[in-house]
Amino acid sequence: MVYLKRYYRFHGLQEVGNPDGGSQSEKGAIAVTFDDGFGDNYRFAFPILKTYGIPATVFLVTDALDNRTLLWMHRLAYLVNACGGQAVVEAVEALSGERFRSSDGQPSMRALRERLTCRTPPKDRDELLNSLCEELKTWPEQSVEREGLYLTSAEIKEMTQGGIAFGSHGVTHTALAALSGRAQMDELRRSKRVVEEVAGNECPYFAYPFGEPRHYRPESQALVHQAGYECVVKVGGGWNPAGKAAALDRIKVEEEPLPAFASRIEGISLRSGLRGLRGSPPVQ
Ligand SMILES: [Zn+2]
Repeated sequence: MVYLKRYYRFHGLQEVGNPDGGSQSEKGAIAVTFDDGFGDNYRFAFPILKTYGIPATVFLVTDALDNRTLLWMHRLAYLVNACGGQAVVEAVEALSGERFRSSDGQPSMRALRERLTCRTPPKDRDELLNSLCEELKTWPEQSVEREGLYLTSAEIKEMTQGGIAFGSHGVTHTALAALSGRAQMDELRRSKRVVEEVAGNECPYFAYPFGEPRHYRPESQALVHQAGYECVVKVGGGWNPAGKAAALDRIKVEEEPLPAFASRIEGISLRSGLRGLRGSPPVQ
C-alpha cells in the first residue's frame, strides 16, 4: 500500500469506473478490492487502509456472513489440508465413478477443482462434498466460527464507517458458468439485497466468483446489469480505459516480494501506455 500510494493515486471503485466521479480521465488511478469477505480483511487490511487513508471495496459472499456456513471451496480446501489431495481425489473418484487424473495418470486436484468449479451444479457439488466428509470422516464446518474465517455484520458496520464499501460476490460463491440463467439471476439479486441490508450502502458492483472468462457465460454480463448492478468486476490483468465502465478488469495481488509486485505493475503500466507514470524507482 505504501508503494502504491507513493506512485499512484487511490480512489473508490465508484470514482474509477464512473466519469461523473471526476477522476475517470486521471491516469494511474487505483481502486483496491478484496473478494470473499474474509475476517482477516477486518483484522489485518482495515487497520492499514485506515492508517494510509485508502478507500477500498470488499466483495461479500452473503451465505458466509457472520460465519453462518463454510463456503464450498473452503470446505474442499480444508479436506485437502486435513487428508491430502490424493486421498480427496481418490475418494471423489470412488463416490462419483468419474476419474480426475493428470496426463501422467496421477490423481489431479486441479482437474477435480475445475470440474466442481465450472461444470457442477451447486446441489450436486454440495451433496458430493457432504458424502466426501462422511467418507473421510472429517467435518470442516466446526472450524469456521472458531476461526472467524469470514466477516461479521458488526465488523462490516465498523468498516463502512471507516470508509470501506461493500459489493456482491454472490450468495454461494458459485461460478456463473455452472448455473442456469434463472439460477444466475437468483444469485445476483439475492446477494445484492443482503449486501445492501448489511452494509447499508447501495450495491452497484458485482465481482464474478473466480472471475476469469471460463467462470461465467456469454450472457452473464447482461444478467448482472438486469439484476440492477452498474458494473461487473473481473479478474483480468490490465489498466481499464477511462470512461464509464460496464465492466472492470483487475490486477491480482499475488503473494510476492515488493520488487516482483512493483515490476509486474510497472510492466502492465508500460504496456498500457502509462510510461513514466511512476518516475523514480521504489524505496528499497
Ligand atoms: Zn472469490
